[in-house]
Amino acid sequence: MLQRTSKATFLPGAFVFPGGALDPDDASARAAQRVLGLDDARASLRLGLEAGGLAYWVAAARECFEESGILLAADESGRPVEPERAAALEQLRAPLNAGALLFSEFLEQQDLFIPAQEIAYYSHWITAPGRPRRFSTRFFIACAPAGQHGAHDRSETVHSVWVSPREAVERGRRGEIELIFPTRSTLTDLAPFPTPRAVLEHAKGLGDIEVNAACWALDHEGSQRLFRRADPPYYEIHWSDPEEKGDTCFVIQPGVAKRLDRYVTRITAPNPGAMTGPGTNTYLVGEDELAVIDPGPSIDSHIEKILAAGAGRIRWILATHTHVDHSPAAALLKAATGAQILGRPRPAHGNQDHSFAPDRVLADGDRLAVGNLNLRAIHTPGHASNHLCYLLEETRLLFTGDHVMQGSTVVINPPDGDMRAYLASLDLLLAEEIAIFAPGHGYLIGAPHREVRRLVAHRLAREAKVAAALKRRGEATPEELVGDVYDDVSPRLHPVAARSLTAHLDKLVAEGRARQASGRYILRTERSAP
Ligand SMILES: [Zn+2]
Repeated sequence: MLQRTSKATFLPGAFVFPGGALDPDDASARAAQRVLGLDDARASLRLGLEAGGLAYWVAAARECFEESGILLAADESGRPVEPERAAALEQLRAPLNAGALLFSEFLEQQDLFIPAQEIAYYSHWITAPGRPRRFSTRFFIACAPAGQHGAHDRSETVHSVWVSPREAVERGRRGEIELIFPTRSTLTDLAPFPTPRAVLEHAKGLGDIEVNAACWALDHEGSQRLFRRADPPYYEIHWSDPEEKGDTCFVIQPGVAKRLDRYVTRITAPNPGAMTGPGTNTYLVGEDELAVIDPGPSIDSHIEKILAAGAGRIRWILATHTHVDHSPAAALLKAATGAQILGRPRPAHGNQDHSFAPDRVLADGDRLAVGNLNLRAIHTPGHASNHLCYLLEETRLLFTGDHVMQGSTVVINPPDGDMRAYLASLDLLLAEEIAIFAPGHGYLIGAPHREVRRLVAHRLAREAKVAAALKRRGEATPEELVGDVYDDVSPRLHPVAARSLTAHLDKLVAEGRARQASGRYILRTERSAP
């Protein structure tokens, strides 16, 4: 890491990774000829650009040499430059830094190449709007060639140090060095890796790299706050404020209609709680004619807000499922509007809304035309056997009900809740092109496929804990296992967790890995020789 000079206009005094702006020469044909193993088409695809991607690899290698003296270069066959030679070439940093020597010239004169396969694209950060300068920065990972030590350039940077990510984070925490957010976040992500090579291999294996674009939004009193990708409202802010005006409100306020985009408005019901988060989200979809998705609990003030926002345009009422926090308002809303109710009938078990009576029963794949828009039902049993998600095909926004919710884990409550079905229904979503999730509780959820994979991994990790706990005891009831399996969850929530635990055990039974006898679960051991 390098410390920037206190005279720098940007980040004075901060400890940073070597790097800097693209130079016109980075995109030159001459520079491209000095890159091994990557062309502009593939580089651009990797970075999500139309063209010009290769220049970033050139810039990464150039800035690394100019700022830190580490020469990421190889001969034509890809053999890294010898440390003695790299040391001898260090004297050319000054003319490179001064612009008297172009990096492509330097590589040509020395007959050196940039080993692009050894420089892996890792992350993309964009600073928040509203400042005179805005930065779009790509981070790359490379291992320093053996024998090269590097040093700061004594102009832009005044100090340099080799430090493990973990220690750098610690020093930052102690206030010994200044780290800005993307640097600290990156160091924190790198800390668990055992070796630099492991980081490089990880970076090479990453799929699409998602941008982390800091954004501004307002609280309910109009004060601005900065958000980044790890913050729950991040994707919703970008979705509802694509022009980055910074004037969208990030607070979910029950009863206050929130315009999410041209077609979708959300009204959150005043039923917050441990299972409902900020409250149940009711969505109004359409322009001249509206569909209401999940009218919510039968609370008068909530129904009034829906009717006010609907302004005489409500034609359809859709339920994702018939739990009591999602569909009971349907009957009253129908009485007030004459709208048609769509969904699947309530199942026999679970905490169901007995008033729900669909005028049209939807099956997987059924479409509803809402003006020029199309909602397609996707049957997603698991949380509830009659659960439907609705895909707004024009914008690829998926209304997920309780199949995926933001801020908490979905409860799978047998017998209507079914863990095997739930995991299969999550897999279904991976086959759909989806831009964003609009859940039954909480904010819009971005990077939907990544979220689905995270949820599946989370459930499978829990399942492994269930199997291990059952193995230790030989046999047990869910109540006996819950403390072991949900040791990361507040005991207050253990009664609810015991329901999902039962669902995990039932899955093990269905797969022949356990059996159940009068409420006790017994692990089936593989019949192998002792
Ligand atoms: Zn539910």
